[in-house]
Amino acid sequence: MNQDENWDTWDSPAVVSYQPPPQQFQQTYSKTPSINVDDLIIEIDSRLAGTIIGKGGIKIKGLKKESGAFISIIDGNTYGLKTVKISGDAKAKKIAHKLINEIIDSNDPEKMRQKLLADQQVLKQENIQSISNFDWEQLMKEQAENIKKKLAALPSIIKNFYKEHPEVTMMSDQEVEDFRLSKNNIMVKYIDEDNVKPIPKPILSFNHAFKDYPDILKEIKKQKFETPSPVQCQAWPVIMSGHDLIAIAQTGTGKTLAFLLPAFIHIDFQPTPRNERKGPSILVLAPTRELVLQIESEVKKYSYKGIKAMSIYGGASSGKQKEYLRGGVEIVIATPGRLNDFVGSGAIDLSDVTFLILDEADRMLDLGFEPQIRVSLLKVRPDRQTIMTSATWPPGVKRLAKSYTTNPVQVMVGSLDLTTVNTVRQDILIMEEEEKENWLDDFLKNCSTDDKVIIFVNRKVTVDQLSSDLCMKGYNVESIHGGREQCDREQALDSLRNGDVSILIATDVASRGIDINDITVVINYDFTKDIEEYVHRVGRTGRAGKTGLAITLMTRRDWSKAKELIEVMEKSGQNVPQELQDMARRHEAKQEKDKAEGGDRPFRGGRRGGGGRGFSSGSGGGFSGNRRNNW
Ligand code: AMP
Repeated sequence: MNQDENWDTWDSPAVVSYQPPPQQFQQTYSKTPSINVDDLIIEIDSRLAGTIIGKGGIKIKGLKKESGAFISIIDGNTYGLKTVKISGDAKAKKIAHKLINEIIDSNDPEKMRQKLLADQQVLKQENIQSISNFDWEQLMKEQAENIKKKLAALPSIIKNFYKEHPEVTMMSDQEVEDFRLSKNNIMVKYIDEDNVKPIPKPILSFNHAFKDYPDILKEIKKQKFETPSPVQCQAWPVIMSGHDLIAIAQTGTGKTLAFLLPAFIHIDFQPTPRNERKGPSILVLAPTRELVLQIESEVKKYSYKGIKAMSIYGGASSGKQKEYLRGGVEIVIATPGRLNDFVGSGAIDLSDVTFLILDEADRMLDLGFEPQIRVSLLKVRPDRQTIMTSATWPPGVKRLAKSYTTNPVQVMVGSLDLTTVNTVRQDILIMEEEEKENWLDDFLKNCSTDDKVIIFVNRKVTVDQLSSDLCMKGYNVESIHGGREQCDREQALDSLRNGDVSILIATDVASRGIDINDITVVINYDFTKDIEEYVHRVGRTGRAGKTGLAITLMTRRDWSKAKELIEVMEKSGQNVPQELQDMARRHEAKQEKDKAEGGDRPFRGGRRGGGGRGFSSGSGGGFSGNRRNNW
């Protein structure tokens, strides 16, 4: 056997597969071939051995042929290296060395990285050049023309249905101002201060808004509402005049009806007949299933010219929803996620949507729905009328408003941010965590048969624990949190709504948008994660002209929230208890001390003895009554 044959047989199988060589080859493989003084020795990165050998040894055979040298690869002494032995005459060795160096150079990982970077640099340069040469202005012009052409091909939209009532026209500027002030200080303005047009005056009665729409007036009459709510007073003339609107208003202010009644009229009077529209005319996007269902039930309280509404939301059969959709509906109320699925699968056609509502926009952003909203709204014609509602006005909502509304009018009711309805008395009790359970038991025992209580906690597990604790004690409770099935959540809310149970234990899933008008008590068993959530929880009571009580249990661990809580309480006209003020002061002093010492230190609050102490107006006051054994 010559040397060539010998090499081929012992080395190539090992390199091709990177497996240990077959048994019959192992002995030869591990044997280090002898090295002569004339041999040229090169050490290479062991990862390059396979490249030099080539598949089935084809490369190394070529090297041998080209150079006339004998080349073999043997295990090196150093970890990660292999030794290449080159034998033969000086010229052959030189050629072989050169060829192997070329292979090494072209496969050196660092060099490859450098080359890649250089290539990328060139590409980047080319890109920059092509971008800077690009006529963006022309592109924008073409795009604008395209949109214009597309819009011209679409049926026109009618947005203005408003004829100001003579009594409203007669109102002087001062009278308008006084009226707005008297209605929870309605504030109204164009967001874009450089693009200001006259703002319609508010209406004072249902008749002012809908005198030309007797069917609407009839429906309002059925509901036995006495007077328009503040947001309705200003929103109706603005929306019915065709403006985009941003309503900064919370649930419970009548905001749903503020957009719903103009929506009925909008559907009715579009030039495209209802039976020729390919899909809904009104799209309402809302953050949660609960809110979607609540809006749907609000819509269904009114019957106007056979207009049909449906909800589309996750957690329920999409087959049934699609079937209902095929039957033809004018109003679709949807969560962004499920709507996106429907749009993606072609189950819904949004091209005839001419009136869009983004309800509780701040909440939709909090829940991360912006991408789904963006995708779905690509399918809605850009010249639609858009209404957005939000309880707050943070930068994210401003950005959304800028993207999706056209020169909108903003209507705010009351103070913009965190004022809770002043129909709720807010009591604060400071106690130890372990004292809460007994306090709750005592409190519930003293509730009257007319009370309906929501107990808010921060974690699903606390909901479950507290539910079973209270059940063991004989209370009849329902619970709701994000981990429960949709149908169970709905059933729990229904039970509270129709009075089957009087206690609901909930996480913040239920803090917004849940519209049960006769909740008498909200208990914040855990303090909220942020102050906005506090406002939303508290707002579940004191609705529809009733008064309510919100009791918040605080431990010393919640001291960092005391300052913000005081601000909210002061804004909504509450008495701020001294101990809460002391708590806020202590926290501030602590922060200053930490700052002076150059760092934050963890909380080290000691235990306080004694039970919870009530503020504002006495602990649990106003709910004395018979012990309630049927709970
Ligand atoms: P919303 O703010 O849309 O969640 O509405 C809260 C509740 O107020 C709903 O039950 C409405 O039916 C009710 N409502 C809406 N408008 C009025 C009004 N003008 N007067 C009395 N209640 C109203």
